[in-house]
Amino acid sequence: MQASSAQDGRYSFICEWYDNNAAIIRRYQFLFYPNDNTIEMYDLKNRRQFLKRSQCNSVHLKDLYVGSIVNVHSRQLTLVEYADDFTKRALTNVKQKTLGLIKPDAISKFGPIIDMTYKQGFVVTNAKMTRLTRGQAEEFYREHSGKPFYNNLVSFMSSGPIVAMELITNNGIGEWRTLLGPTDSATARSDAPGSIRAKFGTDNTRNACHGSDSMESADREISFFFGQPAAFPNNASLRDCTCCIIKPSAIKEGLAGQIMTAICNEGFEVTAMEMFHMEKANSEEFFEVYKGVVTEYMEMVDELTSGACYVLEISSPSGKFDNVAKAFREFVGPADPEIARTLRPRTLRARFGVNKVNNAVHCTDLPEDALLETEYFFRILSQ
Ligand code: UDP
Ligand code: MG
Repeated sequence: MQASSAQDGRYSFICEWYDNNAAIIRRYQFLFYPNDNTIEMYDLKNRRQFLKRSQCNSVHLKDLYVGSIVNVHSRQLTLVEYADDFTKRALTNVKQKTLGLIKPDAISKFGPIIDMTYKQGFVVTNAKMTRLTRGQAEEFYREHSGKPFYNNLVSFMSSGPIVAMELITNNGIGEWRTLLGPTDSATARSDAPGSIRAKFGTDNTRNACHGSDSMESADREISFFFGQPAAFPNNASLRDCTCCIIKPSAIKEGLAGQIMTAICNEGFEVTAMEMFHMEKANSEEFFEVYKGVVTEYMEMVDELTSGACYVLEISSPSGKFDNVAKAFREFVGPADPEIARTLRPRTLRARFGVNKVNNAVHCTDLPEDALLETEYFFRILSQ
């Protein structure tokens, strides 16, 4: 491994890549040279160069911090440590991770809340709709155990679905608490009327969202929710449902929250949601039916691995739609957003798509495939 770094301003990380074929995690040294946007990788176990210094347009300095997932030639690499002091000094404290929760009282407002989150400049690096058992809620809020509101708080937090999110931005912990506003929703409405709690909270307990209050709590709370995924199963019902993917390109445009809001406003119900970081093999497998049929197949595969995506289980427990897969397919609109804008301007792709590949969302085409696609994510890929 080479030592000196600071002179040429290169950044050095340890990264991990989950090798699906071998079912092991591989570790590399990952170097980024901002001057010419090149990267270089060393295999740490075999002590040899793994990727020679070369251009990589999918990696940018702003994406480099511990916890970030970067896409290198369709592989999703997780940066797990700073590998030298220069990198650590330059990049710690600039980016901070925090845990955001959408609480049960505001779950129907998850679209607008996630939209405010992106508008404030946060990157969402992990997200899952799940539920807290009473025991988990007690554990999560253990610092408040014994306080008069504790029992009430624990009952409320385990009363329905929540969305857990790992959020990152500069000074993320403080930024998120500022966006939330004061704990009491009434105080929020008087003192911070633009805040999330002012807009979506009810009272002092039912206050829409949670945010970590320090670096220590952020670490603890992020690993609480995302450290052992099996402890927090996704909410998928896998009944009378269809599958919607909000594509990486739409997320990068900051459209995810608006798309979620549009789906809910149309009367569809989102009964499960999770963020996925797709590997190329999975993306190819998922789009297999389009191979040889749609000319953009390979570009679709690459687009889906170019960053995180949200997968939503769409259903209609209230009975608004008899055939939810067919109704949702119509609401998504033609594959080509240009055509959608001409023929079906109210559809999701007309409103949020750019072109045939970056067309904002994927939805299941044939109602008979809807359950299979939903299961692919929520039963097979979801841990
Ligand atoms: N809470 C409550 N009554 C109170 C104070 C807090 O029910 O008098 C609830 C509320 O939901 C709050 C959570 O307990 O969000 C945690 O309280 P904390 O003081 O940590 O507020 P936060 O950090 O969430 O603003
Ligand atoms: Mg707190």
